[in-house]
Amino acid sequence: MKHMYDIEQIRKDFPILERQVYGKPLVYLDNGATTQKPRQVVDAMSEEYYSVNANVHRGVHFLSQQATELHEASRETVRRFIHARSTNEIVFTRGTTESINLLASSFGEAFMKEGDEVILSVMEHHSNIVPWQLLASRRGIVIRVIPMNDRGELLIDEYRKLFSERTKMVSVAHVSNVLGTVNPVKELIAYAHSQGVPVLVDGAQSIPHMPVDVQQLDADFYVFSGHKVYGPTGVGVLYGKEEWLDRLPPYQGGGEMIQSVSFQKTTFNELPFKFEAGTPDYIGTTGLARALDYVSSLGMDQIAAYEQELTAYATRRLMEVSGMRILGTADAKGSVISFLVGNIHHFDMGTLLDRLGIAVRTGHHCAQPLMQRLGVEGTVRASFGLYNTKEEIDLLVAGVERVSRMF
Ligand code: PLP
Repeated sequence: MKHMYDIEQIRKDFPILERQVYGKPLVYLDNGATTQKPRQVVDAMSEEYYSVNANVHRGVHFLSQQATELHEASRETVRRFIHARSTNEIVFTRGTTESINLLASSFGEAFMKEGDEVILSVMEHHSNIVPWQLLASRRGIVIRVIPMNDRGELLIDEYRKLFSERTKMVSVAHVSNVLGTVNPVKELIAYAHSQGVPVLVDGAQSIPHMPVDVQQLDADFYVFSGHKVYGPTGVGVLYGKEEWLDRLPPYQGGGEMIQSVSFQKTTFNELPFKFEAGTPDYIGTTGLARALDYVSSLGMDQIAAYEQELTAYATRRLMEVSGMRILGTADAKGSVISFLVGNIHHFDMGTLLDRLGIAVRTGHHCAQPLMQRLGVEGTVRASFGLYNTKEEIDLLVAGVERVSRMF
């Protein structure tokens, strides 16, 4: 049986939530950018530095073996969390951005030539646009874009029309970091597979908020960042089906990723190490594993349900503000609300909210093509995490009203 979702107890695990800024209690609503860390994560990392630290995989000595065991146990924790078949399918990276760059580079080299096409969506983060553009300039590949309706939902019929015999990859966000739209990735994947095309899912904004099962989705690749799921910065994951990863060339060269090296011929290590050149962030992977343990102990279903309730409440309350415009009103929506009020510049709104202790994000959210589609320069974005409360949302709404009155 699941435990009750005890928000007071949960908040005690995150010391930073006790902070004041400008003499006001911190209301942290920038979880889409990064999440705060529970003691369980930070303590495990300092404990490992203090009592285990040694380089992994190549030492015969006790500490090195212990560090290696912890690092590989973390890989197993990630495997279990996303329900991959094997730890060979879990590649540690620096984060979502590096995972996508790795894949675009490696997949592009192996499987794409001039004139081949990749399908992205109009709501992608720059991290899922620019690596493909770099590939376009190197190899002459072509980017096709799935459009959306005014509610921020992808147009599935248009998506299907984008496929041609040149389509080699589809790469889409599971959840939009601006609109909050939960894209129907299972459906997108099924169609791509019917056309013989693999799919990369950018899970940066889904992993912290909902249960994800890569086998159930049948995703070929799934990527995310540790820091957005209550883990440390600098560590992330590329999940790839073993049959794909096996066929891809290495991304970076160096130690760890080789089997043997000579000036005549070098052979590469087996999966997943083939993609992990250099000393990995083995302390970071411990932190990530403890973060996944933390959210698992609360239950991803419970977190999703709690955040859904918060988001519905926030949407209802924000709509009470005169001149409120919420960008992104999809039926399936995660815990992100982008908004603008009257003619108030998003930057002014964000700066003044900050003075009230309320941390929101303003600007284009690394999604400039989406801003162009929406016809705005930027938005104010409140994004919720597992520790936010209705009281904090009331403070946000009161803050927005107060700022509105000033204009
Ligand atoms: N993709 C999406 C949808 C995101 O929201 C983000 C971060 O905001 C990223 C990719 C990039 O993540 P990172 O900077 O951790 O690599």
